[in-house]
This record gives sequence, structure tokens and C-alpha cells, in this order.
Amino acid sequence: MKIYKYPERKIWQNLVQRPAFEREEISGLIAEIFESVEKDGDRALIEFNKKFDKAITSQITVSETELDNAANEISEDLKEAIQQAKENISKFHAAQITETGKIETVKGVTCWRENRAVEKVGIYIPGGTAPLFSTVLMLAVPANLAGCQEIILCTPPDSSGNINPAILFTAKLCGITKIFKTGGAQAIAAMTLGTESIPKMYKIFGPGNQYVVAAKEYAQRYGVAIDMPAGPSEVLVIADSRAVPEFCAADLLSQAEHGSDSQVVFITTDFKIFTETIEAVKNQVKKLPRNEMASLALAHSLFILANSIDEALEFSNLYAPEHLILALEDFDPYISMISNAGSVFLGNYSCESAGDYASGTNHTLPTNAYARNYSGVSLDSFVKKITFQHLSKEGLKKIGKTIEIMAEAEGLIAHKNAVSIRLK
Ligand code: NAD
Repeated sequence: MKIYKYPERKIWQNLVQRPAFEREEISGLIAEIFESVEKDGDRALIEFNKKFDKAITSQITVSETELDNAANEISEDLKEAIQQAKENISKFHAAQITETGKIETVKGVTCWRENRAVEKVGIYIPGGTAPLFSTVLMLAVPANLAGCQEIILCTPPDSSGNINPAILFTAKLCGITKIFKTGGAQAIAAMTLGTESIPKMYKIFGPGNQYVVAAKEYAQRYGVAIDMPAGPSEVLVIADSRAVPEFCAADLLSQAEHGSDSQVVFITTDFKIFTETIEAVKNQVKKLPRNEMASLALAHSLFILANSIDEALEFSNLYAPEHLILALEDFDPYISMISNAGSVFLGNYSCESAGDYASGTNHTLPTNAYARNYSGVSLDSFVKKITFQHLSKEGLKKIGKTIEIMAEAEGLIAHKNAVSIRLK
């Protein structure tokens, strides 16, 4: 744990840096992986399964039998929980469908936008250290609501060459039947370039570790779109004197347990809450099954004592966390001060894991300070907005002069002529 008491502003910029990865080393590896997948297709994916996931897979595609059997391998309780989460996520995302509004900018000139789904979308579901079947809901539900025609899913196999049954069950529940056993950068390469089994996609979604994030960045040079850079998870908690140290500690650890590269930040104005939360983190982490991973994440995590909640929020805006928790008794006045965050949780009972699973909001969110310029996944991520316009002769007459003058000033005479020829 890195502890800072009233850090001076001049060191803030250093404090908001995320743990560095060997980016250059990774980018060389990503290029090699893309090359192999381009050259050897499925054969390369099978080799990478052996190399990176210690999995023997004779084929990449999940069979119908595997998909059908998944429901028998998970408990009824889990199936019900997944159903309930799906309902809430569907409700929240369905409300994001917007009506087409036609605007008459000038009499006779009508403009509007219509949504069209991205036709082919590839979903990456992390599976390296935890099978994130919840991410299937977060991506497949809005993809279906948007009307995407082809949705495929890639996720790494376990060491027996199987996909976790909860991932398969959730995928089937969401109508996804094209599922492939491949993870990491090679899965992203396959959805970008296509292989014998995996079709090329137009847009790739989903969080993952640094290999996945780097591969998604790399994929863009092939003209594929990505949702956003959603990498190792983060949470920043701001607490006042009425916060509950045990709750804060549990929230911090819920992100720390994602992986050794996760980062958590705790900021409070209250010395008692500061020391008690650090104690609670130390006690709770010992009892976690993923204790080792969470402890590694804690080693580079920040615990900060701040002068005021305003100052804490200023720091948070600079850090731009994926998740922000305001463990404040009176959070309302601070909402308008938040300018950079992926998803915000208000008050002592809004734990971050509610948003991870079941409240309805999306958990695929920008990390590594990208909350400064990206939103999390939403229905909008799965649609393009096409603009339309209709001009009557009257309408063109009304704006014709403006177009002619501007086109001439830019030296684009053919543009001017397209108007003049009609109004002659
Ligand atoms: P993952 O599926 O992202 O990565 C596993 C894959 O990484 C493996 O299949 C393998 O191919 C590849 N890999 C592992 N070691 C490698 C190596 N040395 N060289 C090349 N490739 C290698 O699963 P994960 O590792 O468990 O990571 C999941 C990540 O997703 C976590 O960091 C978690 O914090 C993050 N996450 C983010 C969000 C978000 O919205 N930002 C949401 C959920 C999870």
C-alpha cells in the first residue's frame, strides 16, 4: 500500500499514473500474434491455447452439445440470478433507445438521424483468471437491443479445453451460438482478420488484460472499430467521517481481486476512517480466496488523506477512475463536480459490485484514465447514427446562396454548380 498524507499538488500528476506495463515488449508480441493468426488461422489459435492457456483443443468452435449441456452444469440459483440480472440490464439499456426526431432547420430543409446497428460484432469475454459470464450480459444484451445481425463470442478455454458452463449458458440465453475457444490477443486477431472458423467482425467489444487491450488497439489499423480501451479494473473511493471502513475496504478489495494489475485508490478527509479502512483492508484481504492477486494489486494502490472532499474530487477528476464511489453522507452537492469517471456509485449502500452484476448499468468501462475521453459501453456503442436530409426546391432556394458563396470562397466550384444548376 502506498500511503500519502496531504500530498502536495505538484506530485498529483505522478500519483495518477497507472502501474506501467512493458508496452514495447507487448506491442512486439501482439504484432507476432496477429501475423501467426493471419498466416495459420485456426491452427495458430490451437497452438496459442496450448502456449498461453495450457489447454489442448482439437477445434476452436464450441459444439452444439457443449452449448446444450451447459445448463445442466450450473445451479438453479445461478440460472435465476443470471435471469434477474439480464432483466435489469435489459430495462436500463432499452431506455437508451432514442426516437428519430426530424428537424426543419429552414422551411423546406429537413434533417434527421436514424440508428442502424453495427452488423457484425465480436464480443471478448475474459476468462484468464475468472470466467466473467456477467460480461456476456453486459455486451450481448445491448447488442441484441440494438439489432446487431451477427454476434460472435471468443473466450479462453480452461486447462481441460472447456469453456466455463456459466459463460455458455449466459451466451445461449442471449441468443449467441457462435462461440470460440480462444483468448487474449489471438482472439482479437481472429475476430479482426478472420480464420477458417471465426468470421471477421466490424467492431470488437469487451474488457481484458493488457494483452487484450493492446490487441484491440492494434486491431484498429485493420479498419476494425473497438468499444474502448477497457483494461485492468480500478476503483477510487472518496469517504467522509460517516463512511463505514469495512464497506470501503470490501469495495476496494472487490477491484483489487480482479488481477495483480488492478489499482485501487482510497481518499478520505477523516484520520479515523483512514486508519480503520487500512486495517479493515488488511483483515479482509487475508480471507479472500484470491488473496495473492489482491495483495499484489494493493502493493501499488494509493491510500490518501485529503484536506477536503472538494480536493478529493479534484484529484479524482485528474485520475479519471473507471469506478468512483462517493461514500459520503451528503453526496448530492458533489455530483455536478464529477467530470471524469466511468461509472459512479453514491452513498454507503451503492457497492461497486451492484453495477458489476445486477443493478442494470454496464460494467464495461474505460480504464487507465480513458474516462477523461470515453464513455462506458451502452446501447449507442452498438449503433451508428446515419444522418438523412430532404430539401424541397423551396428549401434549396432558401439556403442556395449561402452554399454558393461558401463553396466559391473555398475554391470548390463544382460544389457551387451543384446548387446553381438546380436553381437556374
Ligand atoms: P483475459 O481473458 O483478459 O486474458 C487471458 C488471456 O491472456 C489468455 O487467454 C492468454 O491468451 C493471454 N495471456 C496471458 N498471459 C500471456 C502472456 N504472457 N503472453 C501473451 N498472452 C498472454 O483474462 P484475465 O487475465 O483474467 O484478465 C481479465 C481482465 O479484465 C482483468 O485485468 C480485469 O481487471 C479486467 N476487467 C475489466 C473490465 C472493464 O470494464 N474495464 C471489466 C471486467 C474485467
